[in-house]
Amino acid sequence: MSEPAYVLDSTAFYAGIPYQGSGRYYTTYLVLEEVKHHNVGASLIHSRVQVTEPTPGSLSRVKTTAIRTGDIGALSQTDLSLLALGLDLMHGDGGVNLVSDDFAVRNVAEVLSIPLAPTAMKGGEWKSITWKIYCRGCGKTYTNPKLTVCPVCGTQLVRKASSS
Ligand SMILES: [Zn+2]
Repeated sequence: MSEPAYVLDSTAFYAGIPYQGSGRYYTTYLVLEEVKHHNVGASLIHSRVQVTEPTPGSLSRVKTTAIRTGDIGALSQTDLSLLALGLDLMHGDGGVNLVSDDFAVRNVAEVLSIPLAPTAMKGGEWKSITWKIYCRGCGKTYTNPKLTVCPVCGTQLVRKASSS
């Protein structure tokens, strides 16, 4: 049996995921650009994380899907590259799990059937994610994940993952 493989977003690096436990870790050059200024040991990255560019075919499939789901505006180039890499690796040896606590990333991953790590890493353990949806305008919080705009004041809602 092969070790589990993970595609990591930048928050996964900040949480220290590549430095604990065993597994095969992948990320993209855009993620590396984001995290390399943040006290992430370059030598550790090179010894434990394989940095790979997604294929153009997967990138365009991710973009098309994100436009259809309405998530495209919430996704950075980095997010798109991660999703495309997940798409590239999901059929490989042992498959892959995408690690991200970004709502739009997870939404598009689900539509593309990219396996998601169901949880976020905290203190060296996997914890389940719950979503907090709140309004920056009036401060009201919601639980319905399908809401995008505050029914009270019309402000765009913000989603935040919190691991309990
Ligand atoms: Zn509001």
